Amino acid sequence: MPADHASSAPLDADLILVGGGLANGLIAWRLALQRPDVRLLLLEAGPTLGGNHTWSFHATDLTAAQQAWIAPLVAHRWAGHEVVFPQRRRHLGGGYASVTSERFHARIAALLGERARRGVAVAALGPTQVTLADGTVLRARAVIDGRGARRSPHLVLGHQKFLGQELKLAAPHGLEAPVLMDASVAQHDGYRFVYLLPFTADTVLVEDTYYADGAALDAPALRRRIAQYAAARGWRLEGVVREEQGVLPIVLSGDPEAFWREARGVPCSGLAAGLFHPTTGYSLPEAATVAELIAARVELSAPALFESLRAHALQRWRAHGFFRLLNRMLFRSAPPQLRWKVMQRFYGLPEPLIARFYAAQLGALDKLRIVSGKPPVPLGAALRAALDRPSSRAEVRQ
Ligand SMILES: Cc1cc2nc3c(=O)[nH]c(=O)nc-3n(C[C@H](O)[C@H](O)[C@H](O)COP(=O)(O)OP(=O)(O)OC[C@H]3O[C@@H](n4cnc5c(N)ncnc54)[C@H](O)[C@@H]3O)c2cc1C
Repeated sequence: MPADHASSAPLDADLILVGGGLANGLIAWRLALQRPDVRLLLLEAGPTLGGNHTWSFHATDLTAAQQAWIAPLVAHRWAGHEVVFPQRRRHLGGGYASVTSERFHARIAALLGERARRGVAVAALGPTQVTLADGTVLRARAVIDGRGARRSPHLVLGHQKFLGQELKLAAPHGLEAPVLMDASVAQHDGYRFVYLLPFTADTVLVEDTYYADGAALDAPALRRRIAQYAAARGWRLEGVVREEQGVLPIVLSGDPEAFWREARGVPCSGLAAGLFHPTTGYSLPEAATVAELIAARVELSAPALFESLRAHALQRWRAHGFFRLLNRMLFRSAPPQLRWKVMQRFYGLPEPLIARFYAAQLGALDKLRIVSGKPPVPLGAALRAALDRPSSRAEVRQ
């Protein structure tokens, strides 16, 4: 662990949060409300906090307490949601909600005031100090690195990649609930589905999504497919309000301890900490839990925070083993064009089990239920994929 330069100069803050994205934004929000005594500094390279995202979650992903404190950041809510497959269409009763970057920025920037600095790129960081791009050094009792996903040789990944466009339509779209997967579409590049969030009667976020082996995103092709999808539904476009895109990590296997050694003693949050749902790449519920964990800590020194976040992430890794196994079945067993069958079968399972899957809280019986019965892909290949060591590196833990 590199020692930061010793200095007798006063500290600039108790805690410096590097990156004003989802994870650090929630930490700042929670701390500022619950621990106003903690001197915070949030440094974001971009012009606004939260970048350009729509972060959605199932109501059952969060505890009642988490739902209450996140509520001011939520821009849209729905009472249920739907999925559509070639041989299955289902309405599920579970509530769904979205936090928009716009609302996230407005609320958190207003709460933090001068404690949030935007347009400030951090060039280098250690456990207790950061160096800005202009050479300024800022010091604190602890730094938290929340700069988003970092490449690591210690995680073996597939990808969920997508491009979304918020469309303004000439007439109401007729959707009553979000459609989390419309997999009735032509399959390309792995498992393809369209994700729909109806924000108002005539605006809808349409995301063309792929569970793919490769990370390359062909944006023009996805835009074309969104236009084709809208036309096939009979939607007449008045315009594209905004666009977002992402390539999210889907974990097949890895060595979490080696991943954390790369942090060199710097406490990490969010994707930088490997804290996301292994099968969806979504991180909002994990980020909410970490924000609570930090706000509840009396001791906010770098070594204490590092150990606590590392132990938490390793515990989550152990709890997520079954999801990585499912990912390997999805990515390694089914021919890419048949991956939709795995998801179609999954969505035939009881609704509470599906909710526990998204909340990453499956019990032993749930796991048995998911893998039992007639498999949607040939069993030999699926089992081999599940048991297969994912790479030749012996240290990789599944
Ligand atoms: C378009 C999109 C939609 C998504 N939708 C969902 C969803 O619906 N639900 C869900 O749970 N998850 C979703 N995710 C997945 C995941 O939750 C997000 O990627 C989430 O934003 C990750 O949080 P984070 O805090 O780790 O990183 P980020 O939110 O990406 O934040 C990192 C921040 O660090 C800043 N930064 C980077 N380098 C520096 C530097 N050197 N100095 C200063 N600042 C720096 C960046 O500008 C950025 O603002 C989505 C991801 C994307 C890309």
